[in-house]
Amino acid sequence: MKNLHQQSAFVTGGSRGIGAAIVKKLAQEGANVAFTYQSSKEKAEILVAEVKALGVEALAIAADSKDPHAVEAAVNQAAAHFGRLDVLVNNAGIGNIKPLEECSLEDFDETMAVNVRAVFAASRVAVQHMQHGGRIVNIGTCLVDRITFGGCALYSTSKAAITGLTKALARELGPKKINVNIVHPGPIDTDMNPADGPGSDYQRSITALGTYGKPEDIAAMVAFLAGPDSRFITGAGFTVDGGTNI
Ligand code: NDP
Repeated sequence: MKNLHQQSAFVTGGSRGIGAAIVKKLAQEGANVAFTYQSSKEKAEILVAEVKALGVEALAIAADSKDPHAVEAAVNQAAAHFGRLDVLVNNAGIGNIKPLEECSLEDFDETMAVNVRAVFAASRVAVQHMQHGGRIVNIGTCLVDRITFGGCALYSTSKAAITGLTKALARELGPKKINVNIVHPGPIDTDMNPADGPGSDYQRSITALGTYGKPEDIAAMVAFLAGPDSRFITGAGFTVDGGTNI
């Protein structure tokens, strides 16, 4: 029996990168998976076909995380479509990595809307559909614990906020046996942080393993936290960074 057999999962930002790997991994574990995207309609449709080929249901929903009402509606749509919701993965995120003097207040609002408010909105609605055994997994960053280069004011602030939210919700939802955890990736080869992009040599050089990670490395941890073997783990952060922060 697969770990997530007959369960339903909702992933924000599932069309590319880490989110797409999470969608596939949860589907491989037997879950029906709904995911949101902002603009990558074609990639989302291809992913739906790939997931359905695994023998589970898939649903792609266009929902901009800057709009909390769109996020909440997407969660409700997924729960109605599958008839249940067991796993929420708050993955969608933006970087806005730049020097403080170049950061506008609009940048601040945008970063907090996508990286923080949407996580709050999705969680708020998702728990209304979850039963005992539900799981929320948030995606943070290793830049929460250790800031290894400049330009992280907006990004690290936002991810620190959802680290606090993770602990608060873990405490509050514990009596309902809904576990809430956060995964902190290090450098992962995606459009956001390509392994051949500017600054990639430095990021690689400060890992212990001397290499970028792959989206699948994060998806594996997320799948573990979404599954039954994580039943005694909540409010915890898991750094998957190739040894960047040691
Ligand atoms: P990518 O930029 O490669 O992919 C981002 C995904 O999120 C896409 O599916 C995109 O949708 C979606 N997305 C972005 N903005 C919105 C929005 N406003 N509304 C809805 N969906 C949106 O990012 P990664 O895969 O690299 O990052 C995923 C998560 O991992 C983020 O939270 C990021 O902060 C975190 N992370 C990444 C690291 C890395 O090195 N890559 C390191 C540490 C953390 P669309 O395709 O439609 O644009």
